[in-house]
Amino acid sequence: MNTELYIIHFHQRLELYELSVKDPETFWGSIAKERLTWNKPFDQVRDCEITSGKINWFLGGQLNVSVNCLDVHVAKHPDRVALVWERDEPGTEVKVTYRELLETTCRLANTLKRHGVNKGDRVAIYMPVSPIAVAAMLACARIGAVHTVVFAGFSSEALAGRIQDAQCKAVITCNQGVRGGRFIDLKPTVDAAVKNCPTVQHVFVAQRTANPTPMGKLDIPLEEAMASESAQCAPEPMGSEEMLFMLHTSGSTGKPKGIVHTQAGYLLYAALTHQYVFDYHPGDVFGCVADIGWVTGHSYVVYGPLCNGATTVLFESTPVYPDPGRYWETVQRLGINQFYGAPTAIRLLLKYEESWVKKYDRSSLKTLGSVGEPINHEAWEWFYNVVGDGRCPLVDTWWQTETGGVCIAPRPAEEGAEIVPAMAMRPFFGIQPVLMEEKGKPISGNDVSGALCIGQPWPGMARTIFGDHKRFVDAYFKPYPGHYFTGDGAYRSKEGYYQITGRMDDVINISGHRLGTAEIEDALVRTNTPIPFAFVVLKEDPSLNHTAVVKELRGLVATKIAKYAVPDHFLVRIFTLPKTRSGKIMRRILRKVAMEQTGDLGDVSTLDDPSVVTEIIKAHAQYKSLTSQNKS
Ligand code: AMP
Repeated sequence: MNTELYIIHFHQRLELYELSVKDPETFWGSIAKERLTWNKPFDQVRDCEITSGKINWFLGGQLNVSVNCLDVHVAKHPDRVALVWERDEPGTEVKVTYRELLETTCRLANTLKRHGVNKGDRVAIYMPVSPIAVAAMLACARIGAVHTVVFAGFSSEALAGRIQDAQCKAVITCNQGVRGGRFIDLKPTVDAAVKNCPTVQHVFVAQRTANPTPMGKLDIPLEEAMASESAQCAPEPMGSEEMLFMLHTSGSTGKPKGIVHTQAGYLLYAALTHQYVFDYHPGDVFGCVADIGWVTGHSYVVYGPLCNGATTVLFESTPVYPDPGRYWETVQRLGINQFYGAPTAIRLLLKYEESWVKKYDRSSLKTLGSVGEPINHEAWEWFYNVVGDGRCPLVDTWWQTETGGVCIAPRPAEEGAEIVPAMAMRPFFGIQPVLMEEKGKPISGNDVSGALCIGQPWPGMARTIFGDHKRFVDAYFKPYPGHYFTGDGAYRSKEGYYQITGRMDDVINISGHRLGTAEIEDALVRTNTPIPFAFVVLKEDPSLNHTAVVKELRGLVATKIAKYAVPDHFLVRIFTLPKTRSGKIMRRILRKVAMEQTGDLGDVSTLDDPSVVTEIIKAHAQYKSLTSQNKS
């Protein structure tokens, strides 16, 4: 059968979805054959045993990911722009064609090989969003090395932890990064990290700025080394299930988890979701503003778009540099067709005048996307109406580092199908969401909530935690045997659509009702004051009366959700919340503070500003002593 044909005709989506979950072998087998270029065809579509975490796709097949992202396009349209590097300095974008990216990738791959990096070796990439960083990822893929990208804002300690966990042989970095008009030293951070990483034999240093950086005995100037290498490099044929990359996510306890993705299944899933969730068409300029240090950057800045031969934007700056119009000025200047960002940035931008959006021409936009956290109604409406002028589908995409690509999103769907604000809604092909009750029984019917699991394996899912398969099985497959457990809670609406209610470990049991923090936050946030549950952050406004604010919030939760959901405690202060560097609130820290268990805060290496935690502990102590005084 010709699956591709069906997908193109969206009115067939439902039948196609049915096929994808009832007969995954036919569905994924035919798509993998059509869409990927293989050195050797696979002879088995899948071999999975979900209870033991055994997940294999396209066994027997061999391919090279960099060939699928570069060579196949160079053969057809070498001068098509692959990357538009939106540098920090506005108006200085750099375009890189597929031919140029292939050449840079090959030179970099040859440099790595010359310095002893071989198939299977791990390489840490600690670089700002840039073409050379993308080339570094693809160069690893070309020679069969495994990259582990570490967000170039992490501390030397966090970087060292990840390098040690992956036992990296080499690090690729830049002298400095540039963000929001400031230079950030990267090389000294790497120097401090590798002191404690005996496996590292070489540090390759690219120059992002003209400023010199001291070079030590491990260090190799990257551009110089690449200049003397050939622009051709034979791609290593890789088995479908050999490692492509690992990426660390923060675990709630202990050390971060090195999530492992492999070659064919990951690439296929990233490419398919990129095309159908965002309605990408050839010739579109795809703008995902995530950093390559996160999985969103892997799947929707690099692998998905490049596998589809797209023009993909690399956004190096911040949403507010040089002013809050930066995103929309970029949309206008680059003619971006799909814009994919995070709720945390949207919430920041909606505080400013609409004129920051309206003064730029956004008519190129066709689809808007959101990822990373539940998007609250206020942010959704602003994104949809102000940015998209109410005419672009806005897709709230739910997925995780572990899922490899988008799993639940309003699109693909039949043309013009409804999109419910602030809901991820529809499972992607091959994704079978299951809601579980506490004892592990699937919950049937609609208008129900439970733990979100996925009922069967899909090609994009993670294969293991590097060096700790038991932890992988324990975290994702033990809680609900026979299912992948996402760690998130979800609600299935009367219509059968999915709404993510937040992390399960953020679920609060109030009067016997299990409520996700997202629900309560969404109710609270409708006051226009950006405030998370219980820990209430106020705008700096001396005229605000705290007692009145708390009264208003209590009333809001009672009417929007229920009386029983009204929190007992409101700690109202002007402070910042503990956030990860990707902007997610670290709620488990708030919980520990509230429970006065601050002795063991778990892994805090992903925290953006650790001093925030001390501030909150202080505020909480003051609040406690005040409330106990009031009681006595
Ligand atoms: P990470 O793997 O670090 O990207 O984090 C994945 C987690 O982010 C998920 O388990 C969710 O808790 C949250 N998340 C991502 N996208 C969404 C979304 N669209 N709606 C709600 N939560 C989301």
